[in-house]
Amino acid sequence: MIVPLENLERALAKLPGLGRRSASRAALALVREPERLLRPLQAALRAAEGNIRCCSRCGAFTTVDRDPCDCCTDVMRDGRILCVVEEPSDIVSIEASGGFRGRYHALGGKLSPVRHMGPEKLPTQRRAMRRRS
Ligand SMILES: [Zn+2]
Repeated sequence: MIVPLENLERALAKLPGLGRRSASRAALALVREPERLLRPLQAALRAAEGNIRCCSRCGAFTTVDRDPCDCCTDVMRDGRILCVVEEPSDIVSIEASGGFRGRYHALGGKLSPVRHMGPEKLPTQRRAMRRRS
């Protein structure tokens, strides 16, 4: 096996939704078509790294130069309706539906009293507690 190809397959297989076989097919496609697939992926990964963060107000994904995010600064959104979600990726799914015009709050984790995961352990709650002290 060619080590760089094997490393690429292993890295891709860590992504959600890609098993070992899918990762292998994706890796082979990337090396077969570097201009069409590999280089655009490299550019997108470079642009994403260090440029995407969570909004300091709601926890949604945003860019470093847009904090608070577009949802938080959109005056047309109904601030009386708050949608509380587990993860920022949930906001992406809801926004894609186009049916919600309120505001969001991403907890950054799952509340689970059974597993002793209370609100004080969630990243957003810890951020708020730091701001208060
Ligand atoms: Zn926001």
